[in-house]
Amino acid sequence: MSPTDLNAPTSALDLERLVRPAIRAMPPYIPSLRRSPSGRHPIRLDMNESPYGPSPKAQAALAAFDEAHRYPDFEAVELREALARYAGAPADRIIVGAGLDDVLNILGLLLIEAGDEAIISEPTFGVYRSLVALAGGMPVDVPLKPGFALDAEGVLAAITPRTKLILICTPNNPTGNVLDPAAIEQIVAAASCLVAIDEAYAEFSGVSHLPLMERYENVAILRTLSKFAGLAGMRVGYGIFPDALVPHLWNVKPPFNISGASAAAAIASLDDLPYLQGIVARIVADRDALAANLREIPGVEPLPSATNFLLVRLPLADAGPVVAALRERGIFVRHFGHHGLGPYLRVTVGTSEENELFLNELDTVLQSYLANR
Ligand code: PMP
Repeated sequence: MSPTDLNAPTSALDLERLVRPAIRAMPPYIPSLRRSPSGRHPIRLDMNESPYGPSPKAQAALAAFDEAHRYPDFEAVELREALARYAGAPADRIIVGAGLDDVLNILGLLLIEAGDEAIISEPTFGVYRSLVALAGGMPVDVPLKPGFALDAEGVLAAITPRTKLILICTPNNPTGNVLDPAAIEQIVAAASCLVAIDEAYAEFSGVSHLPLMERYENVAILRTLSKFAGLAGMRVGYGIFPDALVPHLWNVKPPFNISGASAAAAIASLDDLPYLQGIVARIVADRDALAANLREIPGVEPLPSATNFLLVRLPLADAGPVVAALRERGIFVRHFGHHGLGPYLRVTVGTSEENELFLNELDTVLQSYLANR
């Protein structure tokens, strides 16, 4: 290429025309912004992370890691064996990813092409919609029923010959509730496609659908170490898949998608389970205390949660301005605003000090907002 080509104005090249239409049509990704305008130390209660960080054994494994110059094990054997022991599933059914997001993308690439459909139930985890669209498919929404319950009949009625995948999140993000296991089994038993059950928060609910895999061949279970194990920054997720899909998943999966340091931290975490179980118990107790305290604020109603976060209803049609005012005060929580969630904010359970700060600031902000309306 001559230097003139390199200097050609991009408008003449029209590089955008090279972008796949499915990608061009995608709305821009809006991340949760964490810059604190007040310059205060931010209180990060917006991404359902663990406030306690990695376990002591994971911290030690990271400090001792000395293989940064080597490619990680292509098959991540040690990690998959540790996950297999932990989950109670065969290692050869486990595929790992750089976070569960990566596993979800791998699944989208495996199953979905232009014109294919995947069923989701809003309000739910936003990544599902984009992974289906990214692969050129169509997300089909069968909304949760009142009380955020799974509409099993509706999901089954929405299946067409183009349906490749049903995505079920339980406990559901951002609503926090466990979906009825009987409704999930009803879907699995009658669906002629794969049913992927996202159990990112299973350690907090104590409910897993892994036993379904023994009775049905169309179930995949998706998990992550981001939440209960405090490894969100290390990006370690995994899926347990039916045997028939595993060889194809290996072909789709990017090689070396889990770094050696991340694998070492994950393996050490799984060797530190009593510590992590203590953390989960603390978060669950703090969540229930936070919910009780939120109920003391007039008009504020936290919904029942089986996770490390709470969906909280405010006495307002739109919780957005209150969430923005909290951000001004350095407290980060989420507002979704779609699928009937206008009046709600989602808050991650932090340390007791963080929860206390959030509670006091919410009370102040809400009272002044209501008084000045
Ligand atoms: N599934 C659900 C339901 C989630 O809430 C999240 C994280 N917010 C993920 C998957 C992705 O988790 P990660 O990529 O950090 O493993």
